[in-house]
Amino acid sequence: MNLKNLSTILEKEPRFRFKQIQDAVYKQFVDNWGDVSNLPKNLVANLKENYPLKINAEIMSDNGGNTKKAIIRLNDGEQIEAVLMRNKQGKNTACISSQAGCPIGCVFCATGQSGFKRNLQAEEIINQILLFARILKKEDAKIDRIVFMGMGEPFLNWEEAKKAIETLLDKDKFGFGSRHISISTIGVTEGIRALAKEFPQINLAVSIHSANNQKREELAGINERYNLNRIKKAIEYYLSITNRKVFFEYVMLDNFNDQGEDARELARYIQSFDKRHLIHVNLIAYNKTLAEFKASSGETQEKFKDFLEKNHISTTIRKSFGGEVVGACGQLKSF
Ligand code: SAH
Ligand code: SF4
Repeated sequence: MNLKNLSTILEKEPRFRFKQIQDAVYKQFVDNWGDVSNLPKNLVANLKENYPLKINAEIMSDNGGNTKKAIIRLNDGEQIEAVLMRNKQGKNTACISSQAGCPIGCVFCATGQSGFKRNLQAEEIINQILLFARILKKEDAKIDRIVFMGMGEPFLNWEEAKKAIETLLDKDKFGFGSRHISISTIGVTEGIRALAKEFPQINLAVSIHSANNQKREELAGINERYNLNRIKKAIEYYLSITNRKVFFEYVMLDNFNDQGEDARELARYIQSFDKRHLIHVNLIAYNKTLAEFKASSGETQEKFKDFLEKNHISTTIRKSFGGEVVGACGQLKSF
């Protein structure tokens, strides 16, 4: 799919064609130009040849069809993954990738373990959404939420991620509401500040994983640069501008960051924020990767949560989706 040079192909066509084509792509989610009934035959033939709609993907379905993983093959042969999850209320969340691989290399993350290939172009980010929107349309359903929680660090590919977000928000294209989009970051502070300035209504999740710099650095080497103090300053800036909730993602690793002292350090960190009531903790069950970590037991997760809640910190134990199709968070990798 490539609408970039559409103006060239439409040079000799009446102006309303552009809108027809845009609607076909972003509102009707067609996957074949031949299905667009209001276009003249010669234009359809031209579009078929020069602007193919096909997205090369293999789809795996699991959990009674409620989780779908797409492995998308890009034009240069790289592969990325995206996951579609339907919750009990029937709402569909698309979890999308911003990079092929990830340069951060968190030790517990399958994407990080597989290395970095390249940044995605905005269009490659958008194609993940188009692919799922086309599938859902056949089931008379739609995407309700979008989370940048697949492969890659969105704030290290911000220019393209931003373009993709603009397309998602554009009323003439997808027309999603900002509040239905979330960005998850390992803590790239320039990105957190940019989000506050440019898209204050988009949800922010920060992958904290430990409130101890030394431990956090063991998990994510980038903590050397974006340490907890710097992250705090950026989040306080975000909070001062948006006055919206920030989510702290915390992958629970058995005997590493799930003990009483870890909970105390996390509580102290959160309590040091002016707007601490706006911080919500999501405890995430660790999904198995090549790393030696084990998931914390259910009991440990509950204890951790209880401790935070006693300290007035709202906390959710997040159920992991998609484990069966190896499409859960942190299990996305390029091959
Ligand atoms: N790079 C961004 C967004 C992609 S990772 C970030 O790190 O936030 C999306 C989420 O998956 C993060 O919260 C990350 O910590 C989590 N994750 C990574 N590996 C995981 C694993 N093995 N099990 C569970 N969650 C994992
Ligand atoms: Fe990259 Fe996020 Fe995985 Fe870390 S957790 S390696 S930042 S994708």
